[in-house]
Amino acid sequence: MKKSKETVVGIDLGTTNSAIAVVLDDGLEMIPVHGQPTMPSVVGLDPAGHLIVGQAAKNQSVSAPENTVLSIKRLMGSDETVALGGKSYRPEEISALILGELKRAAEARLGHPVERAVITVPAFFNECQRQATLDAGRLAGFDVARIINEPTAAALAYGAGTQGGSANETLLVYDLGGGTFDVSLVTVENGVVEVRSSHGDTRLGGDDFDEALAKLAEDRFEETDRGASGGISPVARRRLKAVMERAKITLSDEPFAAVHEEFLTATAHLSTEVARSDYEKLITPWLEKTLDCMQRALADAGVTAAKVDKIMLVGGATRTPIVQELLEDRLGKTSRHEINPDLIVAMGAAIQGAALAGRPAPAILIDITAHSFGIGAMMGGPGMFMPVFGCSHIIRRGTPLPVKKSKLFHTVYDNQMEVKIPVFQGESIVPEENLKIGEFWIKGLSKAPEGNPVVMQLEIDLSGLLHVTATEKATGLAKSVTIDTAGHHRLNLDAARTNLAALFEEDDALAVGDDSDADDDEEGSDAEPDADEPPPGPTAGPSQPSRPELLASAKSLRRRAEAILVREISPTDAAEIRALLDASSTAITSRDWPALQEADDKLSDVLFYLED
Ligand code: ADP
Ligand code: MG
Repeated sequence: MKKSKETVVGIDLGTTNSAIAVVLDDGLEMIPVHGQPTMPSVVGLDPAGHLIVGQAAKNQSVSAPENTVLSIKRLMGSDETVALGGKSYRPEEISALILGELKRAAEARLGHPVERAVITVPAFFNECQRQATLDAGRLAGFDVARIINEPTAAALAYGAGTQGGSANETLLVYDLGGGTFDVSLVTVENGVVEVRSSHGDTRLGGDDFDEALAKLAEDRFEETDRGASGGISPVARRRLKAVMERAKITLSDEPFAAVHEEFLTATAHLSTEVARSDYEKLITPWLEKTLDCMQRALADAGVTAAKVDKIMLVGGATRTPIVQELLEDRLGKTSRHEINPDLIVAMGAAIQGAALAGRPAPAILIDITAHSFGIGAMMGGPGMFMPVFGCSHIIRRGTPLPVKKSKLFHTVYDNQMEVKIPVFQGESIVPEENLKIGEFWIKGLSKAPEGNPVVMQLEIDLSGLLHVTATEKATGLAKSVTIDTAGHHRLNLDAARTNLAALFEEDDALAVGDDSDADDDEEGSDAEPDADEPPPGPTAGPSQPSRPELLASAKSLRRRAEAILVREISPTDAAEIRALLDASSTAITSRDWPALQEADDKLSDVLFYLED
């Protein structure tokens, strides 16, 4: 396999749908996944226990909700886990399965390994959520070149689209997807795209509309049924939601949607009709909320509605006519829909990826932080000894990235050699009103009288990730701190790899003797080697092990290696074994069979010398 490091793909990892795109010599290309331009962000286990990702998983979500994971993005950055096939998985792990599916589609399409990626997140994603996204990318075997904001990506795609036109414009990017809402003010000046402000709600989207419609339908059903069939079951409720999502999509084009669902209960059918006007009334409270966010974004950027040149609609839910009408009405402008709202984010990510890969950049990107960051400290007079604990901001919302800012703090008593510092994200000086993103200790300060100066530096990199450094001014003693996020434990990559590898091993063990691989229907990839199979490399011969054999031997090698690790061996040997185990899990997770073979060969050599 030819290694191609210069390809950096762009990925829109959506709550509902994900998409992957790439810029090649002949332009931007959406990479189809299972023959479609977007893939539902759904992961499941089919009745035989095989892992399924995408449309197949979405299809079974109604009949087998216990074996399906939907909207995992809503849990990113939290410690909540989801159950699948009797095991529990972290949100990063589920997201990694989605990313892995996209990776394989790209590799099948391009015919070479794809390692580097730009992944998008909502502008309003906090530190924990961004870290989780980064970890999911790594777990899927990606080298995550950059995490960029979705509205930024959208504007970038638009900016690229207007190349040649030297228009200086102010854009309002309104992104209403399945699970998240984002609105951003973006300026394009001489090809430079700058996000000026961003607001949003990470828990608002088309999903909510589906649920509201399902509730409406259920109420109507109960009204006619009058409890005759004993109320509807949770599974029936899921069916209703799926049916009502289709009705909702119909209502984007038609004034009425007929809903017929047979046997909603054992004895009764549902038959009703929803008018677009009813639906509009239902969702207006949410839409009002989005308009409030928009006003705040305008205010933050210091832009009046009159100054907005264009409205850019992003996300499937913006196809709803009333969304466009309300926006246009509020801003007194017409919206534009020239770029497909489902694909624009992935396109922008691919354009950013191309720039990072050294291809001529169609636009330069300036991103901002959507939040202020600060630390907890005693606030008050110049000496800061008044006993008021507050959030002292170091980086202000709206600062262009990357940014590095420092502020001076002082110890509060004599010989204070250590201090515990909470880090906050948010605008309030009242700590409790902000999100506490971490807490850390600075230890080993000098014995000095109170007022010993300590410089706190916060840095946000181009991916929007936070780094903290504390330096004692007198001694120059610096402590760089990785934020151990509060209320959220950073993913342990090794543990996650093992967890997922087990899933693949089971999946593949079950698939032995069964050639009907769930994702063999890749369109247009006939001529390409199936990314799931060990490719017939130049040395391929009858002795090439099959995938199940490879996995079986990997599994037994891993067991032997783990047995050796608990014995007394030299640290060098232990480190080497751990590195090879890592390489082998990464290869299994990303289904990189040549890499797995290589790791196994090396592991087998090392074990040969260490085993009696
Ligand atoms: P996300 O960014 O959250 O992954 P998408 O941008 O893919 O989401 O939008 C998905 C949402 O858009 C879903 O709630 C879906 O029902 C909704 N949607 C898709 N097409 C339409 C349409 N024609 N009219 C209204 N809503 C739609
Ligand atoms: Mg989206």
